Amino acid sequence: MANVFCIANQKGGVGKTTTTVNLAAGLARVGQRVLVVDLDPQGNATMGSGIDKRAMPLSVYDVLLESASIAESRQRSTAGGYDVLGANRELAGAEVELVGLEHRNERLRQALALALDDYDFVLIDCPPSLSLLTLNGLCSAHGVIVPMQCEYFALEGLSDLVNTIKQVHANLNRELQVIGLLRVMFDPRITLQQQVSDQLKGHFGDKVFQAVIPRNVRLAEAPSYGQPGVVFDPASKGAQAYIEFARELVERVKALGR
Ligand code: ADP
Ligand code: MG
Repeated sequence: MANVFCIANQKGGVGKTTTTVNLAAGLARVGQRVLVVDLDPQGNATMGSGIDKRAMPLSVYDVLLESASIAESRQRSTAGGYDVLGANRELAGAEVELVGLEHRNERLRQALALALDDYDFVLIDCPPSLSLLTLNGLCSAHGVIVPMQCEYFALEGLSDLVNTIKQVHANLNRELQVIGLLRVMFDPRITLQQQVSDQLKGHFGDKVFQAVIPRNVRLAEAPSYGQPGVVFDPASKGAQAYIEFARELVERVKALGR
């Protein structure tokens, strides 16, 4: 049965989507069956997987409103080698439409339950907020992967997220845990980044993944070709780092006994 992980950080532009699609492609390369769930109305994970968000017959929106199943709504990323439950602007409306409905936090969890046997990993790309959409992600997941830049305020932002995860764990989803923190867009020449990285390891120990994703322009260029960087330029430093991260995650999941 699949491991369901949210890629979450309430800050925008920290590398959530880049991590989602490249981890998915990296896991696919090492033989894992992967579903990406795009929970961000911007649809960047959808487009970055080579799927036209404007031309999808069904999306995660239809799944959240229970008008379609995941089996009916998913698409294949031929570029990435994984499946995608896509998102587009329609999803922004779901937030409002869900408010009055029953089990509004659990729509995604209920839908995913029917698809878990099809996959080894489900990766949920969360929007940059602690909204009802993110809550649906956190209620569906076994764990959270937190991509972060090693900048001055990073640790402060992290405590909000960790508190939210604790609350969801206490009240809504006993399975939820932090799987790990992933350092992204890392530049070892910047002393401050080294310092924050050391602080992170001091605070969070083994929860900090060993893999480090460097700042690498090939990762930023890949989405405009509708491909994860891991596929677009597999030899690039960024792609190699994500492939290494995929391997590390497979090992970590084994160590958790999942
Ligand atoms: P989020 O989903 O958290 O908003 P994105 O993954 O969209 O963040 O990344 C924000 C921007 O940074 C994008 O333009 C992306 O291409 C770029 N980016 C992400 N990771 C890297 C990296 N390791 N090196 C260079 N650019 C990156
Ligand atoms: Mg994003």
